[in-house]
Amino acid sequence: MQPVVTIPPSGNEPKTYMNPLIFAAYLAAVVALFVADVLTPRGATPVIGYCVIPLLAVQTRRRWFILGIMGLCTVLTWAAYFLEPPGASAWVSVFERIMVTSVLWFSFVLVWQRMSALSALARQAQLLAETNRELSRSNQELDAFASVASHDIRGPLATTAMFASLLAKRLVGKIDRESTEWLSLIQSEVQRMNSVVESLLEYSRFGAERLEVVECECEAILANVLDGLKADLIANGAEVNHDPLPRVTGDPVQLAVLFQNLIANAIKYRSEVHPKIYLSFASEQDGWKFSVRDNGVGIDPADADRIFQLFERGQGSHAAKGWGIGLATCKKIAELHGGRIWVESAPGRGSTFYFTITNRNSSSRAISTLARETEQTRSATA
Ligand code: ADP
Repeated sequence: MQPVVTIPPSGNEPKTYMNPLIFAAYLAAVVALFVADVLTPRGATPVIGYCVIPLLAVQTRRRWFILGIMGLCTVLTWAAYFLEPPGASAWVSVFERIMVTSVLWFSFVLVWQRMSALSALARQAQLLAETNRELSRSNQELDAFASVASHDIRGPLATTAMFASLLAKRLVGKIDRESTEWLSLIQSEVQRMNSVVESLLEYSRFGAERLEVVECECEAILANVLDGLKADLIANGAEVNHDPLPRVTGDPVQLAVLFQNLIANAIKYRSEVHPKIYLSFASEQDGWKFSVRDNGVGIDPADADRIFQLFERGQGSHAAKGWGIGLATCKKIAELHGGRIWVESAPGRGSTFYFTITNRNSSSRAISTLARETEQTRSATA
């Protein structure tokens, strides 16, 4: 679902009134400089103090106030020329006032540019925050929809399966071969439907709020997964080998599903030869990188990104074996673990799926170090 984001128009910030004391303080400073300028003889130039005014006024973040005070300073700079008592020659005063006016407006341009950049930055940050909010809301809605839909479909499916099997038992020997085939077709389709509902439920079950991160042994997780897949492994004559696997920080239930989906796919999408599956891993700076290599039918590189989306399947007759939920679940799990998943493959050459997991201990250490350094920089520049 495309997130709906409204871009706030420029200058749409909520209006607040300026503190009258601050307003009065700026006016008092300008008037004081003007009086000093008028009282001192020509040649002495207190008006140079006007240059500080826009730099101070930037704190108010009100462009029109800054512009107004600039106009006032400019008018007073030149008005004082006619009011000040005689002193140095007139050209000295004119020269000084031209210099003051130039510096005044030059600093105004800088201030204006800085404020434009700051407000553009603030709008971008606001836009990003809104996009994130919309995205997580639509993800939550999608998960809730998948969960509710799957639960509601389960009941009628179970009833259909039960009556189809009762019917099959009661009609044994009483119906012709074609009708028996139709009945078994109904049963197998109900079973298929049931498996998609289970997969959808599994997909919607995994969310950030349900992530339970602990230290877990991947060797033990893999042993459990292989135990669960034993029947499939034996039926296909599959061989699974692996590197010594590490202890990681993650949710053991989710990681088990990740391993299971990848190994089950390696069996499901096997080629003519017996499946040979190899799991390896490498330590990375902030986590671990795993790979699951097989000698199956392989994947067209053009599909390498698409197959990780929900309900997306590969091409060819073998893709009809599934619903396109398994890899989407793997992607969700890898991302919940601060990592990513991708595949390298070519048709007929087997596939290697890679996924990464972030080491939560090192990332939380890194975050606290960063926070400490930011705090130090802030207090040093304050
Ligand atoms: P499904 O439930 O359909 O298997 P997946 O999301 O697990 O869904 O896989 C999506 C598609 O990716 C499959 O339709 C298949 O074409 C391709 N695929 C996944 N794993 C493999 C593999 N190990 N070898 C070849 N193709 C694969």
